[in-house]
Amino acid sequence: MLPSHINFGRHYQGGNPMSVPAWNPAVEFMEREALERLQLAQLRQTVSWALKTPFYRRRLAEAGLTRSEDIASLRDLRHLPYTTKDDLREAYPDGLLAVEPEQAVRLHTSSGTTGMPTVIYHTRRDLDAWTELVARCIVATGATAGDVFQNMTHYGLFTGGLGLHYGAERVGMLVIPVSSGNTSRQIQLLRDFRATVVHATPSYLLHLHTALAGAGVTADQLHLRKAFIGAEPHSEQIRRKIETLFGIEAYNSYGLSEMNGPGVAFECLYKTGLHLWEDAYILEIIDPHTRQPLAEGETGEIVMTTLQRQATPLLRYRTRDLSHLVSGHCPCGRSHRRLARLKGRSDDMLIINGVNVFPSQIEDLLMKTPEVGSNYLIQLEKRGALDRLVVKTEIYAKLFTGDPQTLDALRERLGEALRSAILVKPVIELHEPGSLPVSEGKAKRVLDLRPAF
Ligand code: ADP
Ligand code: ZN
Repeated sequence: MLPSHINFGRHYQGGNPMSVPAWNPAVEFMEREALERLQLAQLRQTVSWALKTPFYRRRLAEAGLTRSEDIASLRDLRHLPYTTKDDLREAYPDGLLAVEPEQAVRLHTSSGTTGMPTVIYHTRRDLDAWTELVARCIVATGATAGDVFQNMTHYGLFTGGLGLHYGAERVGMLVIPVSSGNTSRQIQLLRDFRATVVHATPSYLLHLHTALAGAGVTADQLHLRKAFIGAEPHSEQIRRKIETLFGIEAYNSYGLSEMNGPGVAFECLYKTGLHLWEDAYILEIIDPHTRQPLAEGETGEIVMTTLQRQATPLLRYRTRDLSHLVSGHCPCGRSHRRLARLKGRSDDMLIINGVNVFPSQIEDLLMKTPEVGSNYLIQLEKRGALDRLVVKTEIYAKLFTGDPQTLDALRERLGEALRSAILVKPVIELHEPGSLPVSEGKAKRVLDLRPAF
């Protein structure tokens, strides 16, 4: 039985009476026209908030806009200036604060994966709106107030911990705010409190699975049924691996601190892409080079405008994340459009002896290989004038006890498959499970040891 405050939305296809759980059906299943009217009203509101900062007053004036009423339709969005990560870094620490300092009740920063962290402030209302978005995501996966939720992501400036925490509390789950790391304690808590839902990075869940064996615990002794996985790029194969190893369902969660954090886009029960809450964000996909909008289905950079955040409104924020819009309707019936699994960041691209390679292409291939275990590392070195790509991967323990020729054959097969996929011949190193470094936060899977020039 689902608790009474979980509502049900209409199933999209053909009036089928089957219903899907939803936290806020009135918004989640809103007709597109009404949704776009709401977006326009909120965009005007957001521009008037933004005009309170000298930064946006200047930028908007350059674009010929001094009053929010000048925005006549959503199409006028394209006249608004873009905001970049560098703009946010230059505005550090409070150049983009659009309210009186005493109205702000919390700040968060990004993890700083690609440089100096960016800062986002929230008013009490901003936090409330964020919590609502996270609650929607949680319920869309079929998790309920009856679940016990162990939150394995870091609590602090990083948004993954507190973001999911408040959403889960609002849904009514019993929350175990353990934060990240300390794997033996994680295992102990999972057992003692019979956690049914967890939130973690995919790389940490794979590490946790390896650690279960060391603790003499099997996945079926746990009570897990679902995982929310996000904060770092991962392939469909990694998701399947997590689902199979733990015997659970895993849902992709996309968020970034500049857009609050988690709660931006999440998979529903049907896992057909990540629904992005369009009453809270206007989504655009652009060509990162020409900055022109791309058509549905074309991969480009995700650009988002906040619609609900007063303390730090952001107009057309260039995320550097790459994805495309999924066409058609999701069987759940939600009207909010879906992002495809993230391809990585535009600045993740490696140039190896002149060839462009995304780490996700290497991961895809590794994870399709049944002998390959849970962790890998991509290392780039310089050998004379040439770049050298070393791919270190863990493989299942039993292969190490076998015949060395099997290992040679595997090395050969992986090298050849990678060469034809990415056009660069790698050196393959095979490692035992648990021997490559793991991170408690976002996985660091590329080590570029080449000199900077
Ligand atoms: P940082 O950009 O410093 O890592 P954040 O902690 O705000 O700071 O992380 C947000 C970034 O993490 C996103 O812009 C994106 O690159 C990555 N990310 C978050 N969720 C996912 C996901 N589900 N799949 C792929 N990448 C993700
Ligand atoms: Zn859906």
